[in-house]
Amino acid sequence: MRLTQFKQQPDGTILMSWDDGHAGPVSLRRLRDACPCAGCMGETVLLRTYAPPPKDTSAPGRYELKAASAVGSYALQFRWGDGHGEGIFTWELLRSLCECPSCTGVMPGATGGEKR
Ligand SMILES: [Zn+2]
Ligand SMILES: [Zn+2]
Repeated sequence: MRLTQFKQQPDGTILMSWDDGHAGPVSLRRLRDACPCAGCMGETVLLRTYAPPPKDTSAPGRYELKAASAVGSYALQFRWGDGHGEGIFTWELLRSLCECPSCTGVMPGATGGEKR
């Protein structure tokens, strides 16, 4: 599985396309809040888990994507408007953030009343 396209849309979401034919949007907010770096997600060192500091979601530029660059052939690294840029987003992580109906389990027009 490989990301083949990563394109910012006029509505502010990112369209991700994959080499297996899958494609779906992800919002910048979701992307940024999923940043896997130690500063955002905490880390485990010698069996001690260090919790991350609380997210400051009001920081200016936090949800502004400034740049995206490839890391080898397995991940992307983003630089954000608040200067943050440590997180390495692997293809697996990016794929798990896909917000298309089949990934989120929300089918458009589904009533939810059809389970037996
Ligand atoms: Zn981070
Ligand atoms: Zn999807």
